[in-house]
Amino acid sequence: MGLALSEMATCTRCSLSETRQRVVIGSGPLRPALMVIGEAPGKNEDEGGEPFIGRSGQLLFRLIEEETGLTRSQCFVTNVVKCRPPQNRTPRASELQACRPWIDEQLREVLPKIILAVGNTAAQSLFATKEPMGELHGVVRMLGATKAVATYHPAAALRQGNSVVEMMRQDLQTVSKELL
Ligand code: URA
Repeated sequence: MGLALSEMATCTRCSLSETRQRVVIGSGPLRPALMVIGEAPGKNEDEGGEPFIGRSGQLLFRLIEEETGLTRSQCFVTNVVKCRPPQNRTPRASELQACRPWIDEQLREVLPKIILAVGNTAAQSLFATKEPMGELHGVVRMLGATKAVATYHPAAALRQGNSVVEMMRQDLQTVSKELL
């Protein structure tokens, strides 16, 4: 991600560049077993510069490790939108569109065995669908030549509790079987 990295870090393709502290590019090994793609940075991520470093991320990576055996450092982790939306609002369609070249480039370069799309925004954007998570989650789809599975956002699990955690576990078991 040589050239694009520096371009991404100074991106002004949408107005989130006016309010962000930093572009949260994402990180991890190339050709990993798993690429985790979330929605957008929150406050912790905007300050810390890495995706999923707050409470949601801690829950997500605990579940990933328990169900697949993969640790965070074995995964490439990023978001469909690289800059924090003010007040953590949902990214707008125009922001998703402006950011799309970056995730497309990352998908081409990271080449994971399987993708985990985390939450409605990431899943609907990546799969170009308006289907709700109730229908999207846990199904193995193709994103280009790469397998991909959607699951609920851990923030929903933190709000709604164990039923969402259980569905996330099942979705991650589906991912785990694909990795065998
Ligand atoms: N939620 C996300 O979707 N991504 C992050 O990086 C943090 C919280």
